[in-house]
Amino acid sequence: MVLEHRNLLLRSAEPDVLARFSARLHPVELSKGVTLHNPGDTVDLVYFPESALVAGFSETAAGESVATSLIGVEGALGVFEACGSRTAHMRCLVQVTGRAWRMRAGAYRELYDASALLRTAVHKHIEFLLAESRQSVACNAIHPVEGRLSRYILEGLERSRASTTLPLTQEALAHALGVQRTTVAVCVSALQKQGVLRSSRGAIEVTDRSGLEKVSCLCRQALVDARRDIYRTHSESCDA
Ligand SMILES: [Zn+2]
Repeated sequence: MVLEHRNLLLRSAEPDVLARFSARLHPVELSKGVTLHNPGDTVDLVYFPESALVAGFSETAAGESVATSLIGVEGALGVFEACGSRTAHMRCLVQVTGRAWRMRAGAYRELYDASALLRTAVHKHIEFLLAESRQSVACNAIHPVEGRLSRYILEGLERSRASTTLPLTQEALAHALGVQRTTVAVCVSALQKQGVLRSSRGAIEVTDRSGLEKVSCLCRQALVDARRDIYRTHSESCDA
């Protein structure tokens, strides 16, 4: 049986190889607010989002946290750990409810070994996540909240394949950015006045995407460039 997948990593695998694993891929609904992995957890399951959006949080020992990656239809959770230490090193929290495919880590390792195309796609995904994490370090330390907030909203829309509305509360946005909710409220109000978005109960609607791009910090473009560079070439596998 050949299953339909939107997830770009699953779609990268050779169809005949993926078909052999179809019985070991299970559709699940990931609900907003659910934690998939905590630091130190054993990674037994790998998730391939279809419409769900998951944020990876880096935490301090005192419990403060900030989102340093966003994973949606283009990526997966647990794909590195399943082939390595099997230990989670960040907290992965569902930001937007949606569908995903789930697979046990052992089955994923077999799929990874069987599919050269998937291995190449996962390597690119790792490269992009590293670029994003490095950029986030600079962004969180240097850029004003308004620009960071704009970037987070734009990337959330992109990775959940939503057109204009991101179902995130101001509280969830504040948590992701590691700032007070009142700080996000001030920024949202300013962005509303500029006419680039509207905040309604539990959601942000982008009304002027190109305007929001202009308000976003420069890290947005840096990540667009990184993605273009990482995904444009490399037809050869790393195994070659
Ligand atoms: Zn930035």
